[in-house]
Amino acid sequence: MSNDTISIAVSKGRIYKEALPLLAHAGIVPIDDPDTSRKLILDTNQPDVKLVIIRASDVPTFVEYGAADMGITGKDVLLEYGGSELYEPLDLQIAGCKMMVAGPTEPAAKRPGRKRIASKYVNIAKKFYAAKGEQVEIIKLYGSMELAPLVGLADLIVDLVDTGNTLKANGLEPQEHIMDISSRLIVNKASMKMKHARIKAFIETMAEAVATRGA
Ligand code: AMP
Repeated sequence: MSNDTISIAVSKGRIYKEALPLLAHAGIVPIDDPDTSRKLILDTNQPDVKLVIIRASDVPTFVEYGAADMGITGKDVLLEYGGSELYEPLDLQIAGCKMMVAGPTEPAAKRPGRKRIASKYVNIAKKFYAAKGEQVEIIKLYGSMELAPLVGLADLIVDLVDTGNTLKANGLEPQEHIMDISSRLIVNKASMKMKHARIKAFIETMAEAVATRGA
Protein backbone atom coordinates (compact mmCIF):
# COMPACT_ATOMS: atom_id res chain seq x y z
CA MET A 1 0.00 0.00 0.00
CA SER A 2 1.15 3.55 -0.68
CA ASN A 3 2.97 5.63 1.83
CA ASP A 4 0.18 8.06 2.60
CA THR A 5 -2.46 5.36 3.11
CA ILE A 6 -2.97 3.28 6.23
CA SER A 7 -4.38 -0.17 5.51
CA ILE A 8 -5.87 -2.56 8.04
CA ALA A 9 -6.41 -6.22 7.13
CA VAL A 10 -9.41 -7.85 8.77
CA SER A 11 -11.54 -10.93 8.16
CA LYS A 12 -15.30 -10.88 7.55
CA GLY A 13 -17.74 -12.11 10.18
CA ARG A 14 -17.49 -11.95 13.95
CA ILE A 15 -14.09 -10.23 14.14
CA TYR A 16 -15.15 -7.55 11.64
CA LYS A 17 -18.46 -6.92 13.43
CA GLU A 18 -16.86 -6.68 16.86
CA ALA A 19 -14.00 -4.51 15.56
CA LEU A 20 -16.38 -1.90 14.06
CA PRO A 21 -17.18 -0.07 17.34
CA LEU A 22 -13.46 0.05 18.21
CA LEU A 23 -12.60 1.43 14.77
CA ALA A 24 -15.46 3.94 15.11
CA HIS A 25 -13.89 5.14 18.37
CA ALA A 26 -10.70 5.75 16.38
CA GLY A 27 -12.80 7.76 13.91
CA ILE A 28 -12.80 5.07 11.21
CA VAL A 29 -16.14 4.08 9.68
CA PRO A 30 -16.20 1.88 6.57
CA ILE A 31 -18.28 3.17 3.67
CA ASP A 32 -18.83 -0.26 2.07
CA ASP A 33 -20.38 -3.26 3.79
CA PRO A 34 -18.36 -6.47 3.20
CA ASP A 35 -21.54 -8.56 3.43
CA THR A 36 -23.12 -6.86 0.42
CA SER A 37 -20.11 -5.53 -1.47
CA ARG A 38 -17.72 -7.75 -3.41
CA LYS A 39 -14.94 -5.24 -2.92
CA LEU A 40 -11.88 -6.57 -1.12
CA ILE A 41 -10.53 -3.12 -0.30
CA LEU A 42 -13.12 -1.11 1.59
CA ASP A 43 -13.07 2.67 1.62
CA THR A 44 -13.71 4.39 4.92
CA ASN A 45 -14.87 7.87 5.90
CA GLN A 46 -11.16 8.73 6.05
CA PRO A 47 -9.84 8.84 2.46
CA ASP A 48 -6.39 7.66 3.56
CA VAL A 49 -7.57 4.67 5.64
CA LYS A 50 -8.61 1.43 3.88
CA LEU A 51 -9.79 -1.92 5.21
CA VAL A 52 -8.54 -5.00 3.37
CA ILE A 53 -10.96 -7.93 3.68
CA ILE A 54 -9.22 -11.32 3.68
CA ARG A 55 -9.41 -14.75 5.30
CA ALA A 56 -8.49 -14.70 8.98
CA SER A 57 -5.56 -17.07 8.45
CA ASP A 58 -4.11 -14.80 5.72
CA VAL A 59 -4.08 -11.67 7.90
CA PRO A 60 -0.58 -12.30 9.41
CA THR A 61 0.87 -12.97 5.94
CA PHE A 62 -0.47 -9.70 4.48
CA VAL A 63 0.83 -7.75 7.46
CA GLU A 64 4.23 -9.46 7.65
CA TYR A 65 4.92 -8.71 3.97
CA GLY A 66 3.67 -5.12 4.25
CA ALA A 67 0.67 -5.67 1.94
CA ALA A 68 -1.27 -4.20 4.86
CA ASP A 69 0.17 -1.92 7.54
CA MET A 70 -1.89 -3.46 10.31
CA GLY A 71 -4.27 -6.34 10.86
CA ILE A 72 -6.85 -7.71 13.26
CA THR A 73 -6.89 -11.45 13.83
CA GLY A 74 -7.31 -14.13 16.48
CA LYS A 75 -4.51 -15.25 18.80
CA ASP A 76 -5.20 -18.79 17.50
CA VAL A 77 -4.25 -17.67 13.99
CA LEU A 78 -1.13 -15.88 15.25
CA LEU A 79 0.06 -18.91 17.23
CA GLU A 80 -0.44 -21.20 14.24
CA TYR A 81 1.32 -18.72 11.94
CA GLY A 82 4.36 -18.71 14.19
CA GLY A 83 7.25 -16.40 13.31
CA SER A 84 8.03 -13.21 15.09
CA GLU A 85 8.18 -10.69 12.26
CA LEU A 86 5.11 -8.85 13.49
CA TYR A 87 4.36 -6.44 16.30
CA GLU A 88 1.39 -7.41 18.43
CA PRO A 89 0.79 -4.26 20.48
CA LEU A 90 -2.80 -4.71 21.62
CA ASP A 91 -5.29 -7.32 22.79
CA LEU A 92 -8.57 -6.00 21.40
CA GLN A 93 -10.57 -8.32 23.68
CA ILE A 94 -13.06 -9.15 20.92
CA ALA A 95 -14.21 -12.45 19.36
CA GLY A 96 -13.41 -14.20 22.62
CA CYS A 97 -13.49 -17.99 22.82
CA LYS A 98 -11.47 -20.86 24.26
CA MET A 99 -9.06 -23.33 22.72
CA MET A 100 -10.09 -26.69 24.17
CA VAL A 101 -9.47 -30.39 23.95
CA ALA A 102 -12.82 -32.10 23.34
CA GLY A 103 -13.89 -35.69 23.05
CA PRO A 104 -16.94 -37.94 22.85
CA THR A 105 -19.37 -37.78 25.76
CA GLU A 106 -19.41 -41.57 25.54
CA PRO A 107 -15.90 -42.58 24.44
CA ALA A 108 -15.47 -45.55 22.11
CA ALA A 109 -13.32 -48.51 23.14
CA LYS A 110 -9.65 -47.60 23.56
CA ARG A 111 -7.57 -48.18 20.45
CA PRO A 112 -4.02 -49.52 20.80
CA GLY A 113 -1.12 -47.11 20.38
CA ARG A 114 -0.86 -43.37 20.78
CA LYS A 115 -3.88 -41.16 21.25
CA ARG A 116 -4.89 -39.48 18.02
CA ILE A 117 -5.80 -35.79 18.09
CA ALA A 118 -7.43 -34.11 15.08
CA SER A 119 -7.06 -30.36 14.72
CA LYS A 120 -6.69 -27.39 12.43
CA TYR A 121 -4.42 -26.01 15.16
CA VAL A 122 -1.52 -28.46 14.96
CA ASN A 123 1.10 -26.14 16.44
CA ILE A 124 -1.06 -25.27 19.45
CA ALA A 125 -1.97 -28.96 19.91
CA LYS A 126 1.67 -30.10 19.60
CA LYS A 127 2.86 -27.54 22.14
CA PHE A 128 0.08 -28.39 24.57
CA TYR A 129 0.78 -32.14 24.57
CA ALA A 130 4.56 -31.62 24.57
CA ALA A 131 4.21 -29.45 27.69
CA LYS A 132 2.24 -32.27 29.33
CA GLY A 133 4.90 -34.76 28.27
CA GLU A 134 2.26 -36.84 26.50
CA GLN A 135 3.13 -38.51 23.20
CA VAL A 136 0.22 -38.20 20.80
CA GLU A 137 -0.36 -38.39 17.07
CA ILE A 138 -1.67 -35.11 15.64
CA ILE A 139 -3.79 -35.25 12.49
CA LYS A 140 -4.15 -32.01 10.52
CA LEU A 141 -7.66 -31.16 9.34
CA TYR A 142 -8.91 -27.99 7.66
CA GLY A 143 -12.44 -27.98 9.07
CA SER A 144 -15.30 -30.01 10.60
CA MET A 145 -13.00 -31.31 13.33
CA GLU A 146 -16.06 -32.45 15.31
CA LEU A 147 -16.54 -35.25 12.79
CA ALA A 148 -13.18 -36.91 13.48
CA PRO A 149 -14.06 -38.71 16.76
CA LEU A 150 -17.47 -39.70 15.40
CA VAL A 151 -16.04 -41.63 12.47
CA GLY A 152 -13.02 -43.09 14.28
CA LEU A 153 -10.43 -40.82 12.67
CA ALA A 154 -9.27 -39.47 16.03
CA ASP A 155 -9.90 -39.93 19.76
CA LEU A 156 -10.00 -36.23 20.57
CA ILE A 157 -10.01 -32.85 18.87
CA VAL A 158 -8.41 -29.50 19.65
CA ASP A 159 -10.74 -26.71 18.55
CA LEU A 160 -12.18 -23.31 19.38
CA VAL A 161 -15.21 -23.39 21.62
CA ASP A 162 -17.55 -20.49 22.24
CA THR A 163 -20.97 -21.58 23.51
CA GLY A 164 -20.15 -25.30 23.28
CA ASN A 165 -23.24 -25.86 21.11
CA THR A 166 -21.27 -27.26 18.16
CA LEU A 167 -19.59 -29.85 20.41
CA LYS A 168 -22.86 -30.80 22.08
CA ALA A 169 -24.69 -31.20 18.76
CA ASN A 170 -22.04 -33.76 17.77
CA GLY A 171 -21.98 -35.78 20.99
CA LEU A 172 -18.75 -34.17 22.19
CA GLU A 173 -17.81 -32.37 25.38
CA PRO A 174 -15.00 -30.04 26.38
CA GLN A 175 -12.32 -31.86 28.37
CA GLU A 176 -9.30 -29.61 28.82
CA HIS A 177 -8.90 -25.85 28.58
CA ILE A 178 -5.77 -24.97 26.59
CA MET A 179 -6.05 -21.18 26.51
CA ASP A 180 -8.36 -18.21 26.17
CA ILE A 181 -8.38 -16.67 22.69
CA SER A 182 -9.19 -13.13 21.59
CA SER A 183 -8.36 -10.95 18.61
CA ARG A 184 -5.18 -8.90 18.50
CA LEU A 185 -4.01 -5.84 16.62
CA ILE A 186 -0.85 -6.61 14.65
CA VAL A 187 1.49 -4.16 12.92
CA ASN A 188 4.05 -4.50 10.13
CA LYS A 189 7.51 -3.67 11.46
CA ALA A 190 8.50 -1.32 8.60
CA SER A 191 5.13 0.47 8.74
CA MET A 192 5.63 1.03 12.45
CA LYS A 193 8.86 2.91 11.61
CA MET A 194 7.74 4.71 8.45
CA LYS A 195 4.28 5.75 9.64
CA HIS A 196 5.11 5.91 13.30
CA ALA A 197 3.09 8.93 14.45
CA ARG A 198 -0.15 7.81 12.78
CA ILE A 199 0.13 4.18 13.82
CA LYS A 200 1.07 5.08 17.38
CA ALA A 201 -1.94 7.42 17.62
CA PHE A 202 -4.17 4.68 16.17
CA ILE A 203 -2.92 2.10 18.71
CA GLU A 204 -3.54 4.57 21.53
CA THR A 205 -7.13 5.34 20.51
CA MET A 206 -7.83 1.65 19.98
CA ALA A 207 -6.43 0.91 23.46
CA GLU A 208 -8.67 3.62 24.85
CA ALA A 209 -11.68 2.11 23.05
CA VAL A 210 -10.89 -1.33 24.50
CA ALA A 211 -10.58 0.13 28.02
CA THR A 212 -13.84 2.11 27.78
CA ARG A 213 -15.64 -0.90 26.41
CA GLY A 214 -14.44 -3.06 29.30
CA ALA A 215 -15.37 -0.43 31.91
P1 AMP B 1 -19.78 -22.81 19.64
O1 AMP B 1 -20.74 -23.78 19.03
O2 AMP B 1 -20.47 -21.51 20.04
O3 AMP B 1 -18.97 -23.40 20.77
O4 AMP B 1 -18.77 -22.35 18.53
C1 AMP B 1 -17.81 -23.25 18.07
C2 AMP B 1 -17.57 -23.10 16.60
O5 AMP B 1 -17.36 -21.74 16.24
C3 AMP B 1 -16.31 -23.84 16.23
O6 AMP B 1 -16.47 -24.46 14.99
C4 AMP B 1 -15.24 -22.77 16.19
O7 AMP B 1 -14.26 -23.07 15.25
C5 AMP B 1 -16.01 -21.50 15.88
N1 AMP B 1 -15.59 -20.34 16.68
C6 AMP B 1 -16.04 -19.99 17.90
N2 AMP B 1 -15.47 -18.88 18.34
C7 AMP B 1 -14.64 -18.47 17.36
C8 AMP B 1 -13.76 -17.36 17.19
N3 AMP B 1 -13.62 -16.41 18.12
N4 AMP B 1 -13.04 -17.28 16.04
C9 AMP B 1 -13.18 -18.22 15.09
N5 AMP B 1 -14.00 -19.29 15.19
C10 AMP B 1 -14.72 -19.42 16.30
